[in-house]
Amino acid sequence: MLTPGVKKELERIAGKDNVSFSREDLICYSYDATNASYLPDAVVFPGGPQEISLILKMANSEVFPVVPRGAGSGFSGGSLPIEGGVVISTERMRKIIELDTANLTALVEPGVVTGDFQKEVESQGLFYPPDPTSLKFSTIGGNIAECAGGPRGLKYGVTKDYVLGLEVVLPTGEIITTGGKTIKGVVGYDLTRLMVGSEGTLGVVTKASLKLIPLPPAIKTMLAVFPRLEDAATSVAEIINAKVLPCTLELMDSVCIRCVEEYEKTGLPQAEALVLIEVDGDAQTVEKDSESVKRVCLDAGAESIKVAADKREIKALWSARRSVSTALTRLRPYKLNEDVVVPRSRLPELIKGIHDIGKKRDVTIANFGHAGDGNIHVNVMVDDKDPDEKKRGEEAVRDIFELTVKLNGTISGEHGVGITKAPYLKMELSKEVMDLTRRLKSVFDPRGILNPGKMGLEGPSAGQPYSAGLRR
Ligand SMILES: Cc1cc2nc3c(=O)[nH]c(=O)nc-3n(C[C@H](O)[C@H](O)[C@H](O)COP(=O)(O)OP(=O)(O)OC[C@H]3O[C@@H](n4cnc5c(N)ncnc54)[C@H](O)[C@@H]3O)c2cc1C
Repeated sequence: MLTPGVKKELERIAGKDNVSFSREDLICYSYDATNASYLPDAVVFPGGPQEISLILKMANSEVFPVVPRGAGSGFSGGSLPIEGGVVISTERMRKIIELDTANLTALVEPGVVTGDFQKEVESQGLFYPPDPTSLKFSTIGGNIAECAGGPRGLKYGVTKDYVLGLEVVLPTGEIITTGGKTIKGVVGYDLTRLMVGSEGTLGVVTKASLKLIPLPPAIKTMLAVFPRLEDAATSVAEIINAKVLPCTLELMDSVCIRCVEEYEKTGLPQAEALVLIEVDGDAQTVEKDSESVKRVCLDAGAESIKVAADKREIKALWSARRSVSTALTRLRPYKLNEDVVVPRSRLPELIKGIHDIGKKRDVTIANFGHAGDGNIHVNVMVDDKDPDEKKRGEEAVRDIFELTVKLNGTISGEHGVGITKAPYLKMELSKEVMDLTRRLKSVFDPRGILNPGKMGLEGPSAGQPYSAGLRR
């Protein structure tokens, strides 16, 4: 609970219109894409780093939690105020401050929506590749905090590959800048890299300097139809073996295809699996690569492969792909959504293993995602109101994580740890790594006020992490 003095001070710092304590507003900032929900005590919409600094300084002296929040689209509970306190929403910090076409950089505020930023950049013939499927609503700040990836990760990398520098308000209130506008820079520890993916536990990002590249002149979008899921998984490694590096290689299994068709009627062919492939670059390379992709897919067992004829067809395919996660919620609103990654060559083993786990635990599992980089979004369909199915689903998730680690993979490629993956960290991180992570956190945040209880780290109420926030 915040004291009346703290509430008054929040209004003085951010302005009365930019703070809310009303239950209706607090509910809006109590959830993310995980379905869990915890009420904060206040939500503040600061205009810049100075205000955030004052709030964090007060949080240290009065000891209350502060949780940074972008669009609340996270899949691991990172933006949930699990111990109550103050949610800092970056909604008012939405400026693209600079587009520097000479140095191929941009300077943006954290609340800029990723898709809006990409449109702006592309209007200048430039390209910002990180493209989480949530790009129409997720923010650059949230993408940086989660190190978001997306379909183009295979060829172009993920958010960390495009962050050159940051302005960050530390949990103790100091405002620092890391890195800058240059591609090179080795002076001091790489604090920029440390901040990227730190899930809002080490600081609040208030500005980001981002790398841009020239927009590829040509692109071809193809859809391969497979009668067997394992063959689709094999084709992914085979395409790369053929020395083609597509910018996207996305897989959808039959459960996903069915749900998308029921949800959106995009005209997707009904099959055991579909692989959406895009090749980009200069026109000649695109032509050559698309021919190689067609050959490899047919050799791997595809029954057909179709090239999208125009922008309308490309848009329809992407609309279908982007709606998979939402469409699946019609089957089970409380599905368990994981994002495991294995080395690409182990993908067929992962897919087969997940199928066997689904059978053993008697749960439906839908698979889709960024197969090109071995990153599969595994959706275990459970009914929240069926305790037995829920238990079997949770056992299936544990089995899938164990299999992933056995295949030399990682239990999260892009969704982060937050609260949902904290119980499984020991499968992947040694005691020594966890100890070092805790020590690092306490150097940045000695009073544990910034986003407490996340990433398996303790907050001020260690040992009782989920109790203080009111769960609806
Ligand atoms: C339909 C759907 C599809 C998705 N597809 C993808 C995908 O393809 N790839 C992918 O990577 N993710 C995907 N996601 C997950 C999610 O969109 C990403 O994790 C995204 O980066 C979260 O951004 P956000 O603005 O919503 O952040 P939030 O959910 O609000 O916050 C996420 C984390 O970032 C922290 N944070 C937010 N802003 C700041 C800041 N300024 N400073 C410090 N910390 C901050 C929060 O505290 C929290 O820990 C998807 C989600 C949905 C719902």
